[in-house]
Amino acid sequence: MNCSEQSRVATFRFTVEAEQGAVVLQPLWDTVRARQDWLRSPFFPVSFSFAVYMSFCLPFILLDLLSAKIPALRKYKLQPHNSPTLGMMMLCLFHTIYNHIVFIFPVTVAHWYWRPVSLPKAAPEAQKVLLDTFACLLLFDFQSFVWHVVHHRIPWLYKTFHKLHHKHTSTSVLVTHYSSAWETLSLGFFAGVCPIVMKCHPMTEMIFFIVNIWLSVEDHSGYEFPWSLHKLVPFGLCGGPPHHDIHHMKFRSNYAPYFTHWDRLFGTLAHSHPEEKSK
Ligand SMILES: [Zn+2]
Ligand SMILES: [Zn+2]
Repeated sequence: MNCSEQSRVATFRFTVEAEQGAVVLQPLWDTVRARQDWLRSPFFPVSFSFAVYMSFCLPFILLDLLSAKIPALRKYKLQPHNSPTLGMMMLCLFHTIYNHIVFIFPVTVAHWYWRPVSLPKAAPEAQKVLLDTFACLLLFDFQSFVWHVVHHRIPWLYKTFHKLHHKHTSTSVLVTHYSSAWETLSLGFFAGVCPIVMKCHPMTEMIFFIVNIWLSVEDHSGYEFPWSLHKLVPFGLCGGPPHHDIHHMKFRSNYAPYFTHWDRLFGTLAHSHPEEKSK
């Protein structure tokens, strides 16, 4: 076989593999596309984001409510002596609903108006979805790290925009969105920009939003389970809930939301959780 034949075979093999990757996701994408009217509605982005957020929060809310009565359930809690009260949960929830209606909804409508929804017939390749989602998470992690450091190092920015999120020194799931309008919109903007920069397929964009919401919810859950993502990823590359809980307790470390490399690089990484010793 000469060189050009070998290259033709390699191209053919690559095309077949790519098509197989797309075929895997095609039924799921067809099911999603069947709801085009809803996907194209200006109400979709805000309802999607709120519904996904609340679905991920719900198990942790139940766990918090039950663990107040059943001490055994506090085994995996990062700060077993600090449980959110019902009043605190309601305050965080109302604040989140208010921010979604007053700030996020108008911005997502503007985004919907300026960037019409595109829903191509073909699904993306599974491999590409994984790579693009990972790339978006890395980019979002970097943007959030820079935003976070700046809002801690400049006192005016901290007091005006970020202090609200630090009202609670112990993480609990509904604290995830307990933040100022500026913080909510900035982080929402970063999340929205990542799939555009990476030129993601709309399906990848949705998957990235879901994974991103899950990771931010898990970070604030206040629980560390043996199956938590940061325990499954080797070399401490992901910080997970203990990392972010340390940030809420100590303020001056662990600025990156998901990965640890930026904090490692800038000397702001703190590993040991103070409550670990008292357990
Ligand atoms: Zn902070
Ligand atoms: Zn936080």
